[in-house]
Amino acid sequence: MKVLKFGGTSVGSAARMKDVANLVCDGIPKLVVLSAMSGTTNSLLEIADYLYKKNSSGAMELINSLEQKYQVVCDELYSSEKYLSETKAFIKEKFDYLRSLSKSIFTTFEEKCIVAQGELISTRLFTNYLLEKGVNTCLLPALDYMRIDKNAEPDMAYITEHLKELLDANPGYDQYITQGFICTNFYGETDNLQRGGSDYTASIIGAAIEAEEIQIWTDIDGMHNNDPRFVEGTDPVPFLHFEEAAELAYFGAKILHPTCILPAKLHNIPVRLLNTMDPTAHGTLISNEINKGKIEAIAAKDGIASIKIKSGRMLLAYGFLRKVFEIFETYQTSIDMITTSEVGVSVSIDNLKHLDEIVNDLKKFGTVTVETDMVIICVVGDLPYQNVGFQAQVVSALKDIPIRMISYGGSNYNISFLIKSEDKVRALRALSAHIFTK
Ligand code: ADP
Ligand code: ASP
Ligand code: MG
Repeated sequence: MKVLKFGGTSVGSAARMKDVANLVCDGIPKLVVLSAMSGTTNSLLEIADYLYKKNSSGAMELINSLEQKYQVVCDELYSSEKYLSETKAFIKEKFDYLRSLSKSIFTTFEEKCIVAQGELISTRLFTNYLLEKGVNTCLLPALDYMRIDKNAEPDMAYITEHLKELLDANPGYDQYITQGFICTNFYGETDNLQRGGSDYTASIIGAAIEAEEIQIWTDIDGMHNNDPRFVEGTDPVPFLHFEEAAELAYFGAKILHPTCILPAKLHNIPVRLLNTMDPTAHGTLISNEINKGKIEAIAAKDGIASIKIKSGRMLLAYGFLRKVFEIFETYQTSIDMITTSEVGVSVSIDNLKHLDEIVNDLKKFGTVTVETDMVIICVVGDLPYQNVGFQAQVVSALKDIPIRMISYGGSNYNISFLIKSEDKVRALRALSAHIFTK
């Protein structure tokens, strides 16, 4: 069975949901993962924030206007009284629940429950639409099988067992629908897979059922060779290796959730990125095949800090790097880039929650310098060092840009640069002009 995930824009209106229904219903059963309708998760987080700040009138206003939007979607989606009234009643129940939360004590648990409503609503709307069309549709509740463990990692054994049980108990349906993003945690509470996590849901499910293919349907025709939000004239990349796609997703290509490639790669399940607005476009096929010796794409990751630790005695002090890394481990902060010299080491991090404590602890090893508001620019492709010349090509594209760190050789798939965020757009454009101009 194929797993198809449709993102927020793809199900962002009644008309779009109808398009998705036409795409999906071709007589072949599929497992369809849906995000919340676009804008909903942001609105729900805003509602949670109002409630947290005890601003219940602000929360009520937003809850009511969001409810109104959904009532209109219902009017546009259904043609029969049965499904219209049934779904409107469901919407009312969901929004009554949100209104009731203004009376309870607000914790992160309530926030997680609020934010889960987006996917619960979109999947019910879509399922009811298919049922009205006469498609025998089964809604699989993600909260019954999708679970994360104590470390917030997917509990693959639990997921596989429970999803298979659910599918076995519901054989013979034309289509199966489920919620992206939401899950339960180790304590059995409602939780989620982080923003953009519906992609992750799709690949976890793909791995659990050993799917034939995972398709991520979105609003663009595949992974482009640079960030289309900042660079004009980008082109879709037809084929990517799992490693290349993982690097791009991790280093900022928003089209894919950073963690979503790993489950597919481990089970060798091809991932296809496709465009709901242009379903016949080739998109991007991600697999184990590599396009030899080619630079494929460029991505940028924001919100980075660099930390330099200079120690006059580093050459003699074996064990120095271990001590430095232990501090990052203590504060559960992972390092993205690292460069070393005889007298010091520079690292970059994207989680700045414990920056002050980390810097304080590092001071016992030497002089510490921090720069925030930095960006990692990542050039991805099949780049083994024997392919002479690509390093020079990439570096010369950035000849006018101050570069704080360069990292290459950690894998054959990327060369990364740390620059100031004010230089990001200039760097992305210069790289595209230098590398991809035909
Ligand atoms: P969805 O809601 O379907 O999950 P997202 O907004 O998360 O969609 O991802 C799609 C968006 O990713 C595109 O509209 C595009 O602006 C952005 N994007 C950033 N980098 C890239 C890239 N390299 N290739 C394609 N899209 C990209
Ligand atoms: N609805 C969630 C979000 O907006 C998950 C997703 O769309 O992938 O982050
Ligand atoms: Mg997304």
